[in-house]
Amino acid sequence: MKNILFIMFIGLVNMILSPCYGQKKIDVTYVANSGFLIESSGKQIIIDALFNQGWGNYLVPADSIVSSIITQKDPFNNSNLMLITHDHGDHFNPSMVAAYLIHNTENILIAPPGVTDILLKYPDYKKFKNQIVQLDENNDLKIDTTIQGVRVRSFFIQHDSRPEIENVGYLIEINGLKIFHSGDYNGSEIVEFKKLQLQNEDIDLAFLNFYGFWNNKAEREFTEQHINPKNIALMHIPPAEIKTVKDSISLINDFIDISVFENSMKRKSFFYDK
Ligand SMILES: [Zn+2]
Repeated sequence: MKNILFIMFIGLVNMILSPCYGQKKIDVTYVANSGFLIESSGKQIIIDALFNQGWGNYLVPADSIVSSIITQKDPFNNSNLMLITHDHGDHFNPSMVAAYLIHNTENILIAPPGVTDILLKYPDYKKFKNQIVQLDENNDLKIDTTIQGVRVRSFFIQHDSRPEIENVGYLIEINGLKIFHSGDYNGSEIVEFKKLQLQNEDIDLAFLNFYGFWNNKAEREFTEQHINPKNIALMHIPPAEIKTVKDSISLINDFIDISVFENSMKRKSFFYDK
């Protein structure tokens, strides 16, 4: 009897301490720059991860990682949905993305016209044109779509302080969890962004461009008022600035938890009571 009670007690303690008890999680694998593999309940999304231009400043994925993404090798085995925020060389490489789509005929790409128009000029475009969702600001079915069990809402939001550059932010819903990725939006345009009312979405994890959102009081207030995520992962940080960024973050009190990814293929899990 004593033994049974003891086993029951241990079982109860395990249940309470286990991170899975009453919790959901998002697993994040950093690829490079603003590129990540995002995973929850067996569903995977890749965003801004196939590129080779660092402009001498930003981290780029190693050839072996690019090849793992294209051939869906571990840890990218179930990554059948790809999102791209905009056509810049530190977020998107056309031939890599074409190879990914040709290699995985069931996989889908969601991206704005600046990205998809380039892909659709490829000699082989017929092989993958049905795998592409070309975003259209005026088409609600494309702006709010559910693919491979993942709901993706897309927002045309300004690229840093340059309105002439097309850029898309994504609100992704998997397994009852909400994830936002800003692309290169940095908070300098506020009128249109405020209309999105993202603070009412109960966002769990926000991937935010480090050139905005956190580094002074006004930016932090903007983030709390207009996005209000439970966790932040800062992205687009030049490797040479990682240490300074980490030091600055360590001095911030009373703000949303911020994670910084340094090395390619580093994984981190985020837990949520749901
Ligand atoms: Zn850009």
